[in-house]
Amino acid sequence: MIAKLSVLATIVAMAMAAPTSTTATTTTAAPDAATSASNSAATPILQLSSFNGQFKNQYPPPDAIAPTDTPLVKQWLAELNLTGIPNLPVVPFTDNGDPKDPSAVPADACDWTVTNCINKDLTVCPKGAWGLTYDDGPTQYSPQLYDFLDTTQQKATLFYIGGNVIQYWQSALRACEAGHQLAVHTWSHHPSTSLTNEQFIAEVKYTELAIKEVCGVTTRYFRPPYGDVDNRIRGLLDAMGYINVIWDYDTDDWQMSPGGSRTEAQVDDEFAKWIAAAPNDTTGHIVLEHELYQTTVDAAIKNLPAVQKTWKTVPVAACMNDPHPYREQNVTLATMDGNYTTGITNGSKNTTSSTTSPSSTGKGNSSTSGNRTPITAAGMSGGAMATAGQRLGSFGLTTVLLGAVFAMVL
Ligand SMILES: [Zn+2]
Repeated sequence: MIAKLSVLATIVAMAMAAPTSTTATTTTAAPDAATSASNSAATPILQLSSFNGQFKNQYPPPDAIAPTDTPLVKQWLAELNLTGIPNLPVVPFTDNGDPKDPSAVPADACDWTVTNCINKDLTVCPKGAWGLTYDDGPTQYSPQLYDFLDTTQQKATLFYIGGNVIQYWQSALRACEAGHQLAVHTWSHHPSTSLTNEQFIAEVKYTELAIKEVCGVTTRYFRPPYGDVDNRIRGLLDAMGYINVIWDYDTDDWQMSPGGSRTEAQVDDEFAKWIAAAPNDTTGHIVLEHELYQTTVDAAIKNLPAVQKTWKTVPVAACMNDPHPYREQNVTLATMDGNYTTGITNGSKNTTSSTTSPSSTGKGNSSTSGNRTPITAAGMSGGAMATAGQRLGSFGLTTVLLGAVFAMVL
């Protein structure tokens, strides 16, 4: 996979390219025509935002590594406690997307790209669950995928590229209002370990801010492009309050046309193989798919019905029974155990005992949330990985450890 990173990065950059400007002064996004043309969106469940395309903040160009010298980034850096971040080297990558010198990566880096090392990253769901995830969106192909998910009553975790959120904000808004779990996949889709601490923070926080502007919620889950993560990046994610999500099943759909030569039949065979092996499952799965091309969306639509007959298809937070994938504690997304449904509370019920003050989410006032014993939520300023473990309980930690065994060799 790694040798093809530059190809994918180029294509992602093309997909992200803004229609008009490459300057860092995005204030009004182009209409998301593909989404506008879709009339089949389900009635919104979460009405968190009245966003109309007028971004209040200025954002970097969509295809460039986020700058580190803007007032916003300086503010974010000043707010974060970065003591204790592992002092590991930035990993230079070749133009082909490979680490230039894998042997120079220290063993204690727990570098996933080099050694497939897992360190408390989420890689699987509980047995019986299929963590449904789509990376690299939103794109012009997203409405078709979201229509399908609406029709089949499925929710997914959508790991968004920040630059794409600016361009396809209507799809992003639709997705969060439909109850999908929005999460961060960096601003410009570069390998995480190739970025400095400051660059990585900027990449995450600009994407987080764009989603917040559009949807009114602040994300807490992250997936690194290419799965590229080490203990330095994990420490930075921890400091920012993020839970890192890898996967155990990879469709390699990103290599379908125009990204590569992987055929539809090959992807179909992969799904068929996993379904055939399901009776022997010891865990559930977190599955890597993309909303990147027409081909990848078509593959999802073709194969998900059989998957849905075999597993319960849910977002990652749902399978971990985390009702708060956003920092806003009055927003809940449905959990697999049924203890929570998707909705907005007025703050008097269904909130957690977290000492972190919930942020305002603005306008929502409808509530369909359950009123059950809350699950301890992760704090906002530390211990995302530790608190993920707390939240997951004994099952979760076992699952995470098992995940290391199941991590795919790419
Ligand atoms: Zn990606």
